[in-house]
Amino acid sequence: MTRVAVVGGGALGATAARDLAARDADTVLYERDDLASGASGRAAGIAYDAFAEDIDAAVAARAVERFRELDAADAIDFVDHPYVWFARAGDDRRAEAVRESADRMRANGRDVETLTPDEFADWFPALAGADVAAAALARDAGYLDPASYVTAMGERAASAGADLRTGTPVRLAADGTAVETPAGTERFDAVLVAAGAHTKRLLADIDVAIPMKPYRVQALVTDPLDGSERVPTCYDATGGRYARPRDDGLLVGDGTQEREFDPDDYDETADPEFERASIDWLEDVRRDETAGPSVRRSWAGLCTATPDRDPLLGEVREGLYVATGWHGHGFMRAPALGERVAEQILGGDGIAPFDPKRFDGDEEFSVVEGMTVDD
Ligand SMILES: Cc1cc2nc3c(=O)[nH]c(=O)nc-3n(C[C@H](O)[C@H](O)[C@H](O)COP(=O)(O)OP(=O)(O)OC[C@H]3O[C@@H](n4cnc5c(N)ncnc54)[C@H](O)[C@@H]3O)c2cc1C
Repeated sequence: MTRVAVVGGGALGATAARDLAARDADTVLYERDDLASGASGRAAGIAYDAFAEDIDAAVAARAVERFRELDAADAIDFVDHPYVWFARAGDDRRAEAVRESADRMRANGRDVETLTPDEFADWFPALAGADVAAAALARDAGYLDPASYVTAMGERAASAGADLRTGTPVRLAADGTAVETPAGTERFDAVLVAAGAHTKRLLADIDVAIPMKPYRVQALVTDPLDGSERVPTCYDATGGRYARPRDDGLLVGDGTQEREFDPDDYDETADPEFERASIDWLEDVRRDETAGPSVRRSWAGLCTATPDRDPLLGEVREGLYVATGWHGHGFMRAPALGERVAEQILGGDGIAPFDPKRFDGDEEFSVVEGMTVDD
């Protein structure tokens, strides 16, 4: 029986642990805190299959399929909800990019439609102030509580026989196929490092370099707002904000800082400026003068960037696998990417464009956020 260690109990690690154990691997999941205590517990929980590249579209479609399967089994509550992205009047460059992205998604078989400004206004009166130049709509989309997914996958991993060790920080040892825990060193046939923003640091301890930079993003939830459920999940490419209904109010996100952050030393609270700008944006796109939104809670977390904005998923050294570099789209793709890397560890094919060995590891690059429509 193949013995596999998974380091990190986020969406990716919990999925991989479940899929390894379900395929009869002797699996141990190490999480230094609790499941979903990293970026996965801070995510907005938005999921869609609206990706322009063929491999991304296929991965995201499989992920949405798995979310729906879990919902049908009552393990999570996946709310079907359309996703629209748009550019505002005067922003011709991004308007063109919105239209082009929708064309490419359709070419990959995604259920995506381009909307004229009039169609957008008719369909989404809750965003009456957006004044769009171009918009696109994806129907295979929804949202969920991200921590509930990690919990559900953790439970399924344990039911399939995985050993879940929360409260257990590890370091990599030897050639990367052993882990050091406070209780001692354990050897495995394979180790998967899915430690989120800490992944680069863990690998660096055993002299494996990957080109990944953690960067900071922010989100807030408003107090209850009339009509919040009528707001589609949306991304304003011009304004650089996204939103979705949450807790009878709206979750608004972005506030991206495109530079490298230290995963052990960053501010986990949102900036007052981010809150102010997000409320201004909401007032602008909703054009609802009856009830001004107020902030119920807000937070910051880390996403992970790579030089080409594609993930680092696969084997970096014999028996040592890595899973990071999601550019803000790690939660929605975890059900499929965790499955694929589990299969790869057990002898299946990886995803060639995401092979971490496409890089030397010491590449210089600037952080570019993931939600932009610009290529
Ligand atoms: C505000 C915000 C909103 C977001 N919204 C979305 C969204 O709507 N949709 C989407 O797809 N993505 C979203 N993202 C991105 C998403 O959260 C991440 O891409 C995804 O959750 C990463 O999952 P992961 O399992 O790779 O990492 P993580 O969830 O970070 O998990 C890594 C785990 O490893 C553990 N760990 C670290 N070091 C060690 C160690 N030494 N030993 C043991 N364990 C260790 C950590 O405690 C952590 O639990 C958002 C991110 C943020 C911050």
